[in-house]
Amino acid sequence: MPIATVNPATGEMLKTYDPMSDAQVDAAIERADLAFRQLRGTSLTQRGDWLRAAADRLDADRDEIARLMTTEMGKTYAAAKAEVTKCAAAARFYAAHAARMLADEPADARAVGATRAFVRYQPIGPVLAVMPWNFPLWQVMRFAAPALMAGNTGLLKHASTVPQTALLLEDLFRRAGFPEGAFGTLLVGSDAVDRILRDPRVRAATLTGSEGAGRSIAQIAGRELKKTVLELGGSDPFVVMPSADVATAAEVATTARCQNNGQSCIAAKRFIVHTDVFDDFARKFAGRMSALRVGDPMDEATDVGPLASERGRDEIHEQVRDAVERGATVLCGGEKPTGPGWYYPPTVVTDLTPEMRMWAEEVFGPVAGLYRVASYDEAVEVANGTAFGLGANAWTTDPDEQERFATDLDAGNVFVNGMTTSFPELPFGGVKNSGYGRELSALGMREFCNTKTVWVGEGTAGAGAGAHAE
Ligand code: NAP
Repeated sequence: MPIATVNPATGEMLKTYDPMSDAQVDAAIERADLAFRQLRGTSLTQRGDWLRAAADRLDADRDEIARLMTTEMGKTYAAAKAEVTKCAAAARFYAAHAARMLADEPADARAVGATRAFVRYQPIGPVLAVMPWNFPLWQVMRFAAPALMAGNTGLLKHASTVPQTALLLEDLFRRAGFPEGAFGTLLVGSDAVDRILRDPRVRAATLTGSEGAGRSIAQIAGRELKKTVLELGGSDPFVVMPSADVATAAEVATTARCQNNGQSCIAAKRFIVHTDVFDDFARKFAGRMSALRVGDPMDEATDVGPLASERGRDEIHEQVRDAVERGATVLCGGEKPTGPGWYYPPTVVTDLTPEMRMWAEEVFGPVAGLYRVASYDEAVEVANGTAFGLGANAWTTDPDEQERFATDLDAGNVFVNGMTTSFPELPFGGVKNSGYGRELSALGMREFCNTKTVWVGEGTAGAGAGAHAE
């Protein structure tokens, strides 16, 4: 895949880049390694000041950065501006809370025969971050802010379709004051990842991307015994039970499916509706989906912009056609537009069966699958009947059902009466083929820390230090 900016609204190639040579990559890794030695010796106050400076720059340059993101991957300008603001807030959050998250945790010293025992969180070194194009700023910031605060350095291999955003991020952290090399961008294709991850100076990797990329990176890291965090795809269920406010559920369902032009890992993709409210929900949902305005992502009135690539649009159209050919019903949308730009209309498909691709695969665009179920148990069975387990939504006002869904839905995030989203305050990640490890919150920050046990004894004769073998 070329490293290039191609505007999805027009299909026009705007800028191309030569991939970095092995020597350039090696020099960037060396800078990251040297910067690590420097960064880990700096105070949290200093790192926090740099991160706040990055946040201030994001706020100051918000509109320009948002325009660039829209040009590179097609999200609406309004959504892009909100993404920049969210990144600035997350940077400030980690600047404010890192001291608490990284503080030594005392243990019961007496119980372990020590005078003092505690857990200390320490950085491990340069971390490779392989990132996707869909939230080109946020996906990177939610790794970079906690990693840099912890004293790690970052090497970004961003998606080949967002090179300008990738370069902007390197520039952002450098200009904010972080040491040269603390956050470096590697303009390389995915074929370079193997060599980078095998470099002994690179201590770990985080990937946000597809299942295939996850398997590949996990394999390399496994051979090298390096830690990985994998944030992969999802096919999130959105369950609607009879007690739910159907109108509100249909409204939120529309946003949950079509946010980011339908290209979000935590977009609700399978709408599982109790038969008592199915017809009402289906009518309201299809009505709202077909009322969305599809068009120029720079136009403030646009709800849904183009898909990020022609290949992505072809893929979802093939998934819809496959379902229709096998007997599914299209309630709205489903036609591929002609003309420039990779647009696709918000689409609702029902009467799905297990042999259809849409049943099992992730659908990465504004296409919703609608399922009718007759009971709570059937709702949970269909919701969990997927290889993925990222987010899950349940709509019910019954407190007993709310509690049961929270336990029974097999996902890393369960949102009741709301759509899945990410917050710096809460851990984020998946189970099953959606990956492992967590980003955000203190848990995310500690993923790339050495969780070090420290045991201190008296050191005098008879004090019993190390009296028991392992
Ligand atoms: P992708 O093709 O896997 O690309 C993601 C990143 O991985 C890119 O930088 C890509 O580089 C690289 N890559 C691809 N194949 C690789 C391989 N075999 N070895 C090493 N690196 C590889 O995914 P995408 O299509 O851009 O993004 C959409 C996917 O990401 C969806 O499945 C979505 O659900 C998932 N996602 C998950 C989360 C989450 O938090 N769980 C968030 C957002 C997106 P190139 O661009 O150079 O190919």
